[in-house]
Amino acid sequence: MAKVLYAPMGYSGYDIKETLPSRFMRMLEQSTLGEMVEQKSVAIKMHVGDRLSYSTIPPVFVRILTDFIKSHGGDCFVCDHAIAERKPYLRGYSESVIGCPVLDVCGHLNKYYYVKNVDFKSLKSIDVAGYIHDADVLVDFSHVKGHGSCGYGGACKNIAMGCVTTRTRHAIHRLQGGLDWNNEVCIRCNACIESCNHHANKFNEEDSYSVDYHDCTLCRHCVKVCPTGAITAIDDAFGDFQKGMALSTKTVLDTFKPGSVYFINLLTQITILCDCWGLTTPSLVPDLGIVATEDIVAAEQASLDLIKVENLIPAGLPEGFEIGNTGHLFERIHGKDPFIQVMELEALGLGSRKYETIIVE
Ligand code: SF4
Ligand code: SF4
Repeated sequence: MAKVLYAPMGYSGYDIKETLPSRFMRMLEQSTLGEMVEQKSVAIKMHVGDRLSYSTIPPVFVRILTDFIKSHGGDCFVCDHAIAERKPYLRGYSESVIGCPVLDVCGHLNKYYYVKNVDFKSLKSIDVAGYIHDADVLVDFSHVKGHGSCGYGGACKNIAMGCVTTRTRHAIHRLQGGLDWNNEVCIRCNACIESCNHHANKFNEEDSYSVDYHDCTLCRHCVKVCPTGAITAIDDAFGDFQKGMALSTKTVLDTFKPGSVYFINLLTQITILCDCWGLTTPSLVPDLGIVATEDIVAAEQASLDLIKVENLIPAGLPEGFEIGNTGHLFERIHGKDPFIQVMELEALGLGSRKYETIIVE
């Protein structure tokens, strides 16, 4: 059974030792990370946000992590995909603040990567980012949030979509699906478009039915209202994006020696959308704390277990947004079961959904 350190938010008095950054310091001391990074080059993979987002990992936590790694003899850098466009310094991620360089995972020219062959539907290769590939140790430092395409974004998404090239990101996105449309029997009555509460479907410039699977919740309204049966739901296709993410994650992690990757999930300002949107909306649930472990499956399972539907703060949803009645909170919001990626990670041998929690006081 995997061991998961959990630093909760709760406090009993006005004492700095009871704050999350202070608990994070004690969490790192209790972890296996210090030994892991000794005399090693360490890539810290983060999502550095975009434009006006302010819910990514606050720089104070990044500085604590880089100071810890350096104090244990590690040589670290923070990295993300498409750094130049994201302008991380606008959100406080600069070397003077966080204590180490901020680099693009594929190098300054975005051309440094290693191609690894895979075979999953249309996904035939993964371009593993060069700076990730070459590091001795990876710290997967993730901000947990919802995600339109897969329900949930955490440790898996941070690697799968952020430690690869743009080409691979697009190839994984192309796995998204779930609805089939038959041009031959469509009478262009537009009932499907009018029935969609999420503005996820349209007839495109080629007059074909087109669905934005980020916004589509597979509610099947369009399927049900279609008078000719032109739209059909393909149930298992909705999970292919998450399965592709899990395979991408495994491909990246396979480039590291055993015991060389550490996962830290920050569960604060848990918003409905991914950090790449460049905007921050109110939190869906109260801040929960930090989860840390050497097991990516346990990290994801523990994080999802902490996010409970009964703790939903209605202000975290857009006005008038209706959620479903079953499944995890993220499934009720986005229509995608977030456990698909976790189960796929486990099936690929990356860890265990069973875990023991060790509370960091
Ligand atoms: S399944 Fe629902 S959300 Fe998706 S396109 Fe159809 S009506 Fe819209
Ligand atoms: S509801 Fe069916 S028949 Fe009408 S436009 Fe949509 S796909 Fe075509």
